[in-house]
Amino acid sequence: MLEDLFKTVTKRFNGEEPAEPDVPMFKCPRCSVSTPQQKMTDLGKVCPNCKYHARLTAAERIAITADKGSFEEFYHDMCSADPLEFPGYAEKVTELQSKTGLNDAVVTGKCTIKGSSTMLLVMDSRFMMASMGSVAGEKITRTFEYAAEHKLPVVAFTASGGARMQEGIISLMQMAKTSAAVQKHNEAGQLYITVMTDPTTGGVTASFASLGDIIIAEPKALIGFAGRRVIEGTIRQHLPDDFQLAEFQLEHGYVDMIVSRRKMRSTLSHLLKLHGYTAEPKKEVL
Ligand SMILES: [Zn+2]
Repeated sequence: MLEDLFKTVTKRFNGEEPAEPDVPMFKCPRCSVSTPQQKMTDLGKVCPNCKYHARLTAAERIAITADKGSFEEFYHDMCSADPLEFPGYAEKVTELQSKTGLNDAVVTGKCTIKGSSTMLLVMDSRFMMASMGSVAGEKITRTFEYAAEHKLPVVAFTASGGARMQEGIISLMQMAKTSAAVQKHNEAGQLYITVMTDPTTGGVTASFASLGDIIIAEPKALIGFAGRRVIEGTIRQHLPDDFQLAEFQLEHGYVDMIVSRRKMRSTLSHLLKLHGYTAEPKKEVL
């Protein structure tokens, strides 16, 4: 016992005392190492031990991407209707609105990234796995239309379980609608960068998320359409272990580059500047 006490005193003396037990900790689901929450926040929620990229809320993503104080949110007040009167849907939406402070799964607006003006669109997976219903689809569409009209690029951080089944066919229609809006933006000669984060799946992958001029992914992000079990059950074959991970998608040409969170902001800034988006609004493309 005395020996234990001696060890504790020595540790304290040497400053090796582990964090106080009441400090909130984040336990990494991949390597199981615990890190103080505050340190995780400072690191952009990336595990310092194994580089696991934890999911971010829309506000956290905007904070580490946009220039400080530059983000101006658009279409904030749009709320989902319940067109099918789907059992429990309206209650679920209300509950999530008060829990997350969001009105729906997509936050969109205008900001600057190291001085370059851009539209920024961020999906928040806390809100029904950021599924795309009529409101998410409409906000995404308006973002591209606004960007086309004002000659701005779009940077979209995607994270979604797909279309919002509680809105039935109306949610599926958003796939075509958002894709058409991307096309309009493209015809206006503007750049669209997608950043696929964990997870980007279903109808979002099958529509606007995959239509970026440049498709970036975060390391080890799950990217796919249908889930592994569904595909294995259909084709009756075992799929590779890294199937649908960002690295697999890069190897197969679906993703253009994998960028760690630490380098994301500077990479986006370089790409924007490379395409002529400096601090001034872009001049007419010749
Ligand atoms: Zn870890």
